[in-house]
Amino acid sequence: MNKLTVRLQFREMLGEEKYIKFLSLLIDGKGKRLLYWQEKAWERFQKKFDYPFSDYEHLLSIFEYCHVHNVDLQEDTVEMVYGTVIPPSKSEQEKIEMLYPHVNLVAYGPCWEEDKKKTKIKFCHKCREVYALEKEVKRRR
Ligand SMILES: [Zn+2]
Repeated sequence: MNKLTVRLQFREMLGEEKYIKFLSLLIDGKGKRLLYWQEKAWERFQKKFDYPFSDYEHLLSIFEYCHVHNVDLQEDTVEMVYGTVIPPSKSEQEKIEMLYPHVNLVAYGPCWEEDKKKTKIKFCHKCREVYALEKEVKRRR
């Protein structure tokens, strides 16, 4: 089973909303381990398709991609932003998730300042293109 098929079948099994949740938790996964429901979902998939055992790294190699643009994520080093950030409104958040979920132009730290000025993140180059285009359109209005 190649990774495109795994993505498709797993998406179909979980349903769109849960699948996207699974991906974003995996990609942001600081603890490098799955949550209980993720483990169960993946186990179910393995059983159903007789898929071999897979560790976290293997799952990342399959699912570390942008589900909106269907391209693999790339690594970048970006500025850290500290302090209290006003979270986007619900409609803004929905727009981000639909158009450019992996734009990641900066990384957000805690509300106190730390020494670390830059950090490594994963991003989607298509997400950044769409985001830049949107800004350009806004600027011209
Ligand atoms: Zn993208």
